[in-house]
Amino acid sequence: MAATGKNYSVTEVGNFAELADKEINGAKGRIMLGGELGLTGCEVSINSVKAGKFTPFVHAHKQNEELYMVMKGRGMFYVDGEEFAVREGSMIRVAPEGKRAIKADEDILYICIQAAKGSLKQATMEDGILNEEKASWMK
Ligand code: ZN
Repeated sequence: MAATGKNYSVTEVGNFAELADKEINGAKGRIMLGGELGLTGCEVSINSVKAGKFTPFVHAHKQNEELYMVMKGRGMFYVDGEEFAVREGSMIRVAPEGKRAIKADEDILYICIQAAKGSLKQATMEDGILNEEKASWMK
């Protein structure tokens, strides 16, 4: 359950080492953050797959681009018939129509962010607003 403030929401997903064995809303080893946090511009999932396991299907999307961020472990990634090794630090963008799947050779932890292709109109340098306000640790 997320805690919320006027302009934020926060949740605790627990120890990543235990994620692979958890079943949450019918999905094993996967936490979806969009609904929990009330995200409005993207969906984010945190995924844990044990060594030798894999997503049991290849999938594409209708309109969402995905960014897979491998945070730990190593495995193989499949896109449109091509297969390549991924490991901690691999960042993989897949266009909506890309047919994708992932396999863990070692226990793998990855974050997947999906957002509508072409929806990003600007980013930090154009969107950030510096404030005079200070956090307690800045004093
Ligand atoms: Zn997907």
